[in-house]
Amino acid sequence: MAKVILYRENYFHNLKIISQQAGSKNKIAVVLKDNAYGHGLLEMATLANEYGITKAVVRNYDEAIIIEKLFREILILADTSFHTYSHTFHITINKLEDIYRLPENTNVHIKVDTGMHRNGIHKNELKEAIHGICKQNLKFTGCFTHHRSADELSTDFYWQSHEFAIVKKEVKKLCEQLSLPLPAFHSCNSSALFRTKNFDEDFARVGIAQYGYIENNPIFDIPNLKPVMSLWGNKISSRKITKGEHVGYGATYQAPKDMVVTNYDVGYGDGFLRISGEHEYKTHEGYQLLGRVSMDNLSLDCDKEEVCIFNDVKELAKLHNTISYEITTTLNPRIKKEVQ
Ligand SMILES: *Cc1c(COP(=O)(O)O)cnc(C)c1O
Repeated sequence: MAKVILYRENYFHNLKIISQQAGSKNKIAVVLKDNAYGHGLLEMATLANEYGITKAVVRNYDEAIIIEKLFREILILADTSFHTYSHTFHITINKLEDIYRLPENTNVHIKVDTGMHRNGIHKNELKEAIHGICKQNLKFTGCFTHHRSADELSTDFYWQSHEFAIVKKEVKKLCEQLSLPLPAFHSCNSSALFRTKNFDEDFARVGIAQYGYIENNPIFDIPNLKPVMSLWGNKISSRKITKGEHVGYGATYQAPKDMVVTNYDVGYGDGFLRISGEHEYKTHEGYQLLGRVSMDNLSLDCDKEEVCIFNDVKELAKLHNTISYEITTTLNPRIKKEVQ
């Protein structure tokens, strides 16, 4: 059976580098949304907990429930069910109306739109939001924003940081007036954290960097992170083909010599997508992908019982003209995970 192997040592190496950048492990919230970017939600949450991480970020309630016991605080980015939540959960206010749909005593983080124009309230709505939170008896535990281009060489990052500084000031003023304790402030994802010297927010929301990747423009200092995930296939069958014979759908591969072809149990049904005709893919051990990827299979010029299809997705991301996030997140959640 195809499987994913997760390397504990690499994960802890990444968490150490991230903790150093953030100041301490208490300043990290690991982003585990979307099945931990395809790595396995429970597996990654268990490892993060073992390392001593106490905060996590997920997409919705269903994900939060799975890891509830493993963290002290779980931020839910976009829940739409709006029911009574555990004290561990903190719910994102993505628009003013959300405030009036949540039950009393819910912990909330206000998301502020500082330029991405995706989710969050406008900075002019802060007063209304915080007054609403008091009126509804919600607990105001956090205030955050999200950068739209922290990975790119542009001034956007500084402009949004400046906008968020204005937001922080306003929130502090309103909290003082209402005698509310100050919420936690956070704005950095992986790329923003690694562009920030002397990080001084309450925590950073770190997704991709913990998994061993960062998509920052190479002009920035790139931390030495190690990919956590590798994908493995098992042999279904092998055969000898003679020079001139073809392999797979569309007969796109023609053997230049007599050779052995082995078919492995990984395909696009598992989230290992077809690679466009003009590209060649070789595994890190140098085995060539022969012909098209099928739904449940792919062929390599190799004869091993078990083979590593990838242990680093940077090359694949390039071939697919996309980012590492998309390659790992697309993997089918039912692929078995093994921690080593
Ligand atoms: C996904 C996400 C993150 C993590 O981003 P990375 O680039 O993977 O570090 C942080 N904050 C929010 C709001 C997100 O949606």
